[in-house]
Amino acid sequence: MDYQNFLRLEFYSLPVNVALARVAVAAFAAQLNYTVSELDDIKGAVSEAVSNAIIHGYEGAPDQLVKVVAVIRENELEIVVEDSGKGIGNVEEVLRPGFSTAKDRLGLGFSFIGSFMDTADVQSAPGRGTRVIMTKKAAHRNDADPH
Ligand code: ATP
Ligand code: MG
Repeated sequence: MDYQNFLRLEFYSLPVNVALARVAVAAFAAQLNYTVSELDDIKGAVSEAVSNAIIHGYEGAPDQLVKVVAVIRENELEIVVEDSGKGIGNVEEVLRPGFSTAKDRLGLGFSFIGSFMDTADVQSAPGRGTRVIMTKKAAHRNDADPH
C-alpha cells in the first residue's frame, strides 16, 4: 500500500512561531528521501507562507490562528498554510516578483515559494483569508520502512 502520513499544526500568529512551523514541517518531511538542500527549500517555503499569514493576513495581530497541514502521499509532500485574515483582492498581482503592499519588503516571498517547491497555488478571498497550497516530490524511497 502507498505510504501516507498527515500532520496538522495550529498556532497563534506570533513571529516566534515561524521557526516552530518550519522545523516541525521539515521534521515531518524528513520521512521522505529529501536531500538536506531540499529540506532547506521546504523550510524556506513554510517560513515565507507563515510569515505572510502573520504579517499580511493578520497585520501583526498576535492572537489569531495560523493553520498548517502537511500530507505525505507516497513520495510527495503537500503543505497547506492557511489564515482567516484580510485576504487578497487580486492574487495574480501579488504573485508578481517584486510586488509588495509593504514599503519595507521586497515582495519576493511568493517567488521564493515558487522556486523552492514543485507547485504552489494561492487561494484567497478578501475578508475571508488566504490558503497557500504547495507540493514537492522526493526521490522514490528504496526501503518500505519510512523510519
Ligand atoms: P517579502 O516576502 O519579500 O518579505 P512580501 O511579503 O510583501 O515581501 P510576498 O510574500 O511575495 O512579498 O507577498 C506579496 C504580497 O501578497 C504581500 O505584500 C501582500 O500584499 C500579499 N499577501 C501575501 N500573503 C498574504 C496573506 N496571507 N494575506 C494577505 N495578503 C497577503
Ligand atoms: Mg512575504
